[in-house]
Amino acid sequence: MFPVMLNVRDRRCLVVGGGGVALRKVSSLLQEGALVTAIAPEPSQPLLRLAAQGRVALERRSYRDGEASEYALVFAATDDRSVNAKVSRDAESAGLWVNVADDPELCSFQLPARVQRGSLQLAVASAGEAPFAVRRLRQLLDQRLGPEWGQWLESAARFREQVRAAGLSPGEQESCFDRFFVETVDRERLSARVPPAHEVDGWLGGHGEPTAAQPIPPGPAQPAGTAGAGLVSLVGAGPGDPGLLTLRGRARLLNAQVVVYDRLAEPAMPCDIPAQVEFYCVGKEAGHHPVPQEEINALLVRLAMAGKRVVRLKGGDPYVFGRGGEEAEALRDAGIPFEVVPGATSGIAAPAYAGIPVTHRREAVRVTLLTAHESAKDGGPQVRWDLLAADPHATLVGYMGVTSLPTVVSRLLAAGMDPSTPAAVVERGTTSGQKVVRASLVDLPGRVVTSGIQAPALFVIGPTAHHADRLDWLGDLPLAGTRLVVAPGAVSFASGLEQAGAELVMVPVPLTPAARIVMAALPLSGCVMHGAAEVDALDAERGDPGWPHDVAAWCVGQRAATRARELGWEPFHQVPAGADATELIRAIAAARTRAPQG
Ligand code: SAH
Repeated sequence: MFPVMLNVRDRRCLVVGGGGVALRKVSSLLQEGALVTAIAPEPSQPLLRLAAQGRVALERRSYRDGEASEYALVFAATDDRSVNAKVSRDAESAGLWVNVADDPELCSFQLPARVQRGSLQLAVASAGEAPFAVRRLRQLLDQRLGPEWGQWLESAARFREQVRAAGLSPGEQESCFDRFFVETVDRERLSARVPPAHEVDGWLGGHGEPTAAQPIPPGPAQPAGTAGAGLVSLVGAGPGDPGLLTLRGRARLLNAQVVVYDRLAEPAMPCDIPAQVEFYCVGKEAGHHPVPQEEINALLVRLAMAGKRVVRLKGGDPYVFGRGGEEAEALRDAGIPFEVVPGATSGIAAPAYAGIPVTHRREAVRVTLLTAHESAKDGGPQVRWDLLAADPHATLVGYMGVTSLPTVVSRLLAAGMDPSTPAAVVERGTTSGQKVVRASLVDLPGRVVTSGIQAPALFVIGPTAHHADRLDWLGDLPLAGTRLVVAPGAVSFASGLEQAGAELVMVPVPLTPAARIVMAALPLSGCVMHGAAEVDALDAERGDPGWPHDVAAWCVGQRAATRARELGWEPFHQVPAGADATELIRAIAAARTRAPQG
């Protein structure tokens, strides 16, 4: 069954029948502005009244052969199956969609159960298989969704107009939309609020970057140590390459009920996390925390108290500059069971992808991980720059380092470090967005500025950094820097594409909320698809903020190609159904050199 929302305004619609069921169809159609004709030899009183008010064209007679063909949409709801069948046949032979009440066999479309709040509509259906379940589910949703959702939707529509008019980049637009949703929707209670104008203006001004008080509404207070508290897994997502998420991290994510994640962790999230899992985005990259740490702690405690299995997904390793320690303490204080699933920390993995081994037998025998941001401050724990500067056989890795790099470098130089010490900066290491800059210590800050390096990035200072020039295994791969969505029909290409250096987003079809988060995390270069349904599913995402307009279609086989062409997907490429990964890799690499990625 394929759901659609029909615009019936000013369309001629026919309802055959004059009883209660027919009346309900007539009323719903009128509500949506349709031009309704009703045919019934014995119409009910309410139907007669509607006719008297001129709202329905009422024909007080029996249905005549063939007359259904003059309408856009046809409903039969008489208590005579032969009449219903005749209407259905006439509509079918005229190529019209027809609905016969309580008779799925005679229907070419069915009406979903609806929950409506203003323009917001939820439709529930079961392809006719379990109407009783649908009715109860509809009732449940109707009870759970308060009347405020209609106004909320209106305010969302106004907000969308404002965001569109504000001339923001697609990424900024998305973060405005995130902000709106997070700030106005209580996901636990399924309630919503209409934000006042000054609040909305604030979000637009900050491009959705949170400024003040935070979204997540306080839950009911519960005593610590409540029985039945769920488990919280503090999971490290690794540095970004989805292949670097650990097996246990993946298992916990697939089994979670709630995922509370940071932006840095997005690219490594598995796309097959089930659709009913709740997601909370609480953190941005580069150490800025849009949701204050205390609120994240409180959120984790509250979700666990409600008995949920929670994954707190953090970039890299949870205990390396991720404030994972503070979250673990909060959980312990609240008596909530937790575990830690370590991840590959970016300070070691990103240099490795940039060709820098952080230790090397003859060159570096010690590694220091430093938060550049904290250590460049004057208050707080002090760094012994003198010791770092005096050790030529050590590697210094600085996290959160882009803005503090000049301060760090000048302190090291002042403490006597050799200005020609090899150094490098790695932006978005291990991902398709990886950028590396290599220079000597003294030149590094200047090179970072001229090369436009941005957070998230880290710096590596020490004798092994010079290896970046020779051991750049990633940059030598034909698809380094490409990010491809791979649909299920094209999985046979996956390992080949990955070995060629592409970052893969392995999506299920239909797409899941997780897949949408992952796809939007970094710019995409193309989609590899097989069959028309996969093309349709991904085509529906194109044009969403976060999707560049030049995402290429790589269609495996004729049907996918035909569909992509029908949909006007550009750039567009066809790959023979029997092609092997090598051919596809060559074609993608060739297309890139023809149209270098911006
Ligand atoms: N827990 C994380 C670090 C969080 S602090 C870890 O173990 O990796 C955030 C900082 O980590 C960023 O400002 C940046 O310096 C660094 N970082 C995280 N992912 C990165 C990546 N893929 N490439 C380069 N630096 C990264």
